Amino acid sequence: MVSSNSDTSYRGRFAPSPSGPLHAGSLIAALGSYLDARAAGGQWLVRIEDIDPPREVPGADAVILSQLEAHGLHWDGPVRYQSQQHALYQSHLDDLHSAGLLYACDCTRKQIKARAPYYTGFCRSRGLAFEQNALRFFNRNPVTTLNDRFHGAVTVQADWAGEDFVLRRRDGLWAYQLAVVSDDREQGITEIVRGSDLLTPTAWQLTLWQALNQVQQRPVNLPRLAHLPLVLGSDGRKLSKQNHAPAIDNNQAAANLTRAIGFLGMHLPTDLEGAAVELQLDWAQAKWPSHVENFTV
Ligand code: GLU
Repeated sequence: MVSSNSDTSYRGRFAPSPSGPLHAGSLIAALGSYLDARAAGGQWLVRIEDIDPPREVPGADAVILSQLEAHGLHWDGPVRYQSQQHALYQSHLDDLHSAGLLYACDCTRKQIKARAPYYTGFCRSRGLAFEQNALRFFNRNPVTTLNDRFHGAVTVQADWAGEDFVLRRRDGLWAYQLAVVSDDREQGITEIVRGSDLLTPTAWQLTLWQALNQVQQRPVNLPRLAHLPLVLGSDGRKLSKQNHAPAIDNNQAAANLTRAIGFLGMHLPTDLEGAAVELQLDWAQAKWPSHVENFTV
């Protein structure tokens, strides 16, 4: 469906980690980001965040893509895999290093916790070797307030926002913050729509985004942000692959989508409940702009 409100510069994304199939909660993140992009006439990209092999399930990427297809959530362009982007992450790390914004840290989690609830910058001037150690971002200008379309102005506690977060882990794996910011910048993402569990780390991501703008002398506009409500399990915790939320069943796609649309606060007309996924999505896409105008989480 072509939106009258076509914004060809809008680029959104859904970025699942292949640690298992999509569950009811990740379907909400996929649907919310899809509707926001399509309602704006924008692009919707899919990025598989496979940078943490110990937590990945072989084949989960293919299952996730089949689940998106079955639910009518068709993406634009090729699927991007973070496991193919090592050179990009390394070059961003090198740029930060050249600018004096990177240092090595050998503190254990226990040592950090014994000092404070957050990392205090203990290793900043210790001059440790990069090999075999975690690499931390020297956080000189932390972003502490961010504007979210659904949450409004969000202030993140200063100690947390100002922490020297990890960019490369001690085991040599890339940290999520570095990978996500590098890819969002590189892919020209203008809108981030995802679950509210990622609202607080967004302060770090914006800080890193701005630091890269400066050190690379390549300003890329900060993305607009919208963090969606989370689906909670009966125990009150966020549904997640780690706590074994059940996979959504492709054979129940129409019913799953009806539930997901309802969870986002939209009331499908009765004749569309459980109808073909394309019909439900067309309706939700048309309703989305007015629905989210006053949406608060
Ligand atoms: N890969 C992350 C996850 O599955 C989402 C990252 C993002 O949307 O920025 O929780």
